[in-house]
Amino acid sequence: MILKAGIETGHQSVLELVDAAIPSKELDPIKQTILLVEGVKGCHRLRGRRAGSSLYLDVHIEVDPFCSVSAAHDIGENVRHQIHKTHPVVSEAFIHIDPALPLISPGVDEPTKFREVLLQRKKILMRLFPVSSHLDSLSFRKWL
Ligand SMILES: [Zn+2]
Repeated sequence: MILKAGIETGHQSVLELVDAAIPSKELDPIKQTILLVEGVKGCHRLRGRRAGSSLYLDVHIEVDPFCSVSAAHDIGENVRHQIHKTHPVVSEAFIHIDPALPLISPGVDEPTKFREVLLQRKKILMRLFPVSSHLDSLSFRKWL
């Protein structure tokens, strides 16, 4: 009994010492903070890991696809600032900036609507990457 408790406590502290992924539910308050920052249209792939007493975050934020690089950069910096201010437990936040694209939700079962959303996304992508006409190439498949 005592031995078992000892092993469990040991296991827990080992988990805390080495990298431990944080359950996404625990990251919900941070997600709320991110979404409240002006210019943020959405966020995804929010992940966190604990190393010792430090918490490292990794998140993709979505911004207006046609805003300037400096505007997008400023939004990213504001996100970082708000995260540190509101959640001091976070030691470092890695923020990736993505263009916000109309979502293709699994709920869109109406073929016309689905095509509309696809076309809208394609139009945005053509404006974003005018040189590349090969939107069906592998590198773009994830966007379409
Ligand atoms: Zn992304």
